[in-house]
Amino acid sequence: MNIPSLVMNDGTTLPALGFGTYPLKGSDATRSVSTAVDMGYRLIDSALNYENESDVGRAIAEADPQDAQLVVTTKLPGRDHGYDQTIRSFDGSLERLGRIDLYLIHWPNPRHGRYVDAWRAMVELQREGRVRSIGVSNFTERHLHEVAEATGVMPSVNQIELHPEFPQAALRGVHADLGVLTESWSPLGEGRTFADPAVAGPAAKYGRTPAQIVLRWHVQLDAVPLPKSSSAERQRENLDVFDFALTQAEMAAITGLGRPDGRLWGGDPETNEEM
Ligand code: NAD
Repeated sequence: MNIPSLVMNDGTTLPALGFGTYPLKGSDATRSVSTAVDMGYRLIDSALNYENESDVGRAIAEADPQDAQLVVTTKLPGRDHGYDQTIRSFDGSLERLGRIDLYLIHWPNPRHGRYVDAWRAMVELQREGRVRSIGVSNFTERHLHEVAEATGVMPSVNQIELHPEFPQAALRGVHADLGVLTESWSPLGEGRTFADPAVAGPAAKYGRTPAQIVLRWHVQLDAVPLPKSSSAERQRENLDVFDFALTQAEMAAITGLGRPDGRLWGGDPETNEEM
């Protein structure tokens, strides 16, 4: 399966769909990532706080660790914000994963106010060629402007909660203006909209599953979904969304399922603490 790719503001590319690894751990994580890579997934999403970097690294080492198409992603936890801590945290993650192609700040943790220093360190890691691409996760427009103004470097990616009940139209618009690519976490939204006619209708029309319709919606929004599954069958299903297209009206109907209180567990970046 050949996955299309999007161009990032640093000139490199990002596959249009990736594989999420939370909460996979141990041999389950290694096996699931191996299956996903064999099947054609090239974007793998991990984080230090998922406590699975070594397990993911094992799968990467068993595949082709030099594969130029692979984008192994991990994230800096809140407790490691700050300049020196970020460099040290990166070193540890790199040792466990074997390679890091995209490094993200996991959450801004604004109350602690150290994400700008973390970003300065990430800019330095990229300048030294230790990591190909750098970005953030769960940042608001304000946080994006702040790190870019402090360093002159705009994040390449912002990985945010995005699914039909929380379609993030405003922040996606900000990303488009700033040249930041959107990655979608919890892209399936716990399947809460699968039975809604806006999703079930196109599923019947195109002979696809509701999950495929929702993932296709992300792809047409130019948002990169990161579905997680430990079942090979579902991994294949989730990848198989590049040979049909939703109409503008179908896209609008799915986006219309959005609600201001649509977040799955209330993770507001201004207040959530991820350490
Ligand atoms: P998801 O939308 O990937 O949903 C996963 C759930 O859906 C699992 O229970 C899985 O069994 C089920 N599922 C998978 N494929 C299916 C299919 N085809 N049909 C029906 N059910 C299916 O949500 P998620 O795992 O919460 O998020 C995906 C990834 O995003 C995570 O693995 C992680 O990598 C990342 N993430 C990042 C953050 C962040 O703060 N940056 C937060 C949460 C998740």
